Amino acid sequence: MSKEVEEVLKYDIDGILLDSFRYMPDIEGACFCNFCREGHEKDLGISMPTKADWNTLVYRKSFLWRYKINVEGLKRIKEKLKNMSSRVVLGYNSHPGGWRGRANRIIEMARNYIDVVFAECSETDYQPPGFIAEMVRLSLAMSGGKPVWASRNSFHTCLTTTCTSPIAIRQGLREAFIAGGWPLYLVFSSAYVQDPRITKAINVVYKEIEKLEDYVIDARPIRYVGILFSNKSRDWGGRDTPEIITDCIRGFYYALLARHLPLSYIADSDLDSGKLEDYRVLVLANAQSLSKQAVGHLVDYVKKGGGLLATYKTSIMDEYGTQLDDLQLGGLLGIRYKGEINTPWSYIKIRKEHKVVEGFSKGQLILWGDFDRNFVDRRVPKDIANHAYVEPKEEEGVIANVVLPLEEFGSEYENGRSPPVAGAETEAPAIVTNHLGEGRALYFSGQIGRIFWRTGLVDYLSMIYNAVLWLGGKPPISAKGPETFEMSAYELDDSILVHLLNYTYNQRILTGSPSTHEKFVFCSTHSIHPAREIIPIHDIELRVYGREVKNVRSLLRDDANYGIERRGEMTIINIPKLQEYEVILIE
Ligand SMILES: [Zn+2]
Repeated sequence: MSKEVEEVLKYDIDGILLDSFRYMPDIEGACFCNFCREGHEKDLGISMPTKADWNTLVYRKSFLWRYKINVEGLKRIKEKLKNMSSRVVLGYNSHPGGWRGRANRIIEMARNYIDVVFAECSETDYQPPGFIAEMVRLSLAMSGGKPVWASRNSFHTCLTTTCTSPIAIRQGLREAFIAGGWPLYLVFSSAYVQDPRITKAINVVYKEIEKLEDYVIDARPIRYVGILFSNKSRDWGGRDTPEIITDCIRGFYYALLARHLPLSYIADSDLDSGKLEDYRVLVLANAQSLSKQAVGHLVDYVKKGGGLLATYKTSIMDEYGTQLDDLQLGGLLGIRYKGEINTPWSYIKIRKEHKVVEGFSKGQLILWGDFDRNFVDRRVPKDIANHAYVEPKEEEGVIANVVLPLEEFGSEYENGRSPPVAGAETEAPAIVTNHLGEGRALYFSGQIGRIFWRTGLVDYLSMIYNAVLWLGGKPPISAKGPETFEMSAYELDDSILVHLLNYTYNQRILTGSPSTHEKFVFCSTHSIHPAREIIPIHDIELRVYGREVKNVRSLLRDDANYGIERRGEMTIINIPKLQEYEVILIE
């Protein structure tokens, strides 16, 4: 590798960018060449496993070893550059939403050797509006704040050579920028450069950035909720089905994004080093694998007044994925782990009135689960309606209980696709609150984030939102208005900078199929249309809490005039209309 570095440095280059590595830890992509076999045996003292036996520590160590091959490669290149006193920067394409999410762990482990993270976002047209911004936040967390270059491809969907719409390009590039990244526009095919509409769209955004870059260069994201994106838990808890964990996490992200709270991702290493003080609420969505250090820091964090939200099997494993008898966070959450309630469907029943279940009535049943889209060898996705069976240390903290289904499935739909009606209420709590020191903790025994990610139903969204507000109190800034825009807020020296990006598009995704394996619908599935039109939205309120606001102005347009209204400790800034994008400075 050092030869190649020497060779490229002979040319007048600014950086080395390593495109998507295919050397990933999963067994189906594993390399069994002599170098790997011998290296594995030398480092771990055992021959390389040929099948994925997740239950053994040996296999999990071997899995980690493959990550280390990548990390050491990056380290060697970085050191070579240093030795040659080169100012060439080293970039790595993590493709954060691809490769089953694994490369995020490479970024986290190699954060000291990488200068720039290239967050390729080629699947953006298959993902919710806001995906590029999400991938920037994720990459910032994984890399410990290294510069993130995030891409909007020129092509429509993926693996095509058809150009997308100028709107998709403008909004995609802005998404990268509002989340704290630097937008890259990827050309790929020479045919694209012939289309002047595309260059015009790029030009608009880069001109905006030129106006704004002095403001954003030292901007610090306003912290309120930190959602743990736990690489360890995805690997050790998710195993061959990492989406089980990732869905839990992303459900929280998109629920809170829709309610316009300031949100960030955090990495396992942030918990390990205890860099948590900026956050008012931490979300541990099925974060199964935690280190002892992380647990210690979380206890301190709550004692000092922080809010902690945990779900399902959070902290059931040590950092190497070994299953434990009790949840490491049991004391903090006010529960004792007794086992798992294994059930195809379940319900939760509200036991009492509480801020967390505001809008629900006492005794109300909420369905817990979803049907499987494959529907071949099972009716429901793996473990989706399961609950951790826990015992509360104090009955008083229990807000809802787990209710078992009367039967395995309901009778209304063919092949048992529908949910069964509710059966017996159990003693097992579904939602538990606890107090420790100055802080609060809240626990969902099931996977609320995963169910929300799959179904998008408002009951789950409301509970997530209520829970976060109960734990964190009034956010320093938030927005009210339709769901379909993103607010991203930053602290400057003595002002706040707020991006507002409108996601109100024409209906983007037109067709899918209720079942992924059978020919059912009469048209082709997976038709995706690009954003062709942005519908302006009205009457957005920015709510600033706990600080004085003297002046508000737009950084993009001179004619904008936004009213300020004071209500006690709250200042409300009225934005009568949002077209595509606005940036506001609050002084
Ligand atoms: Zn090899």
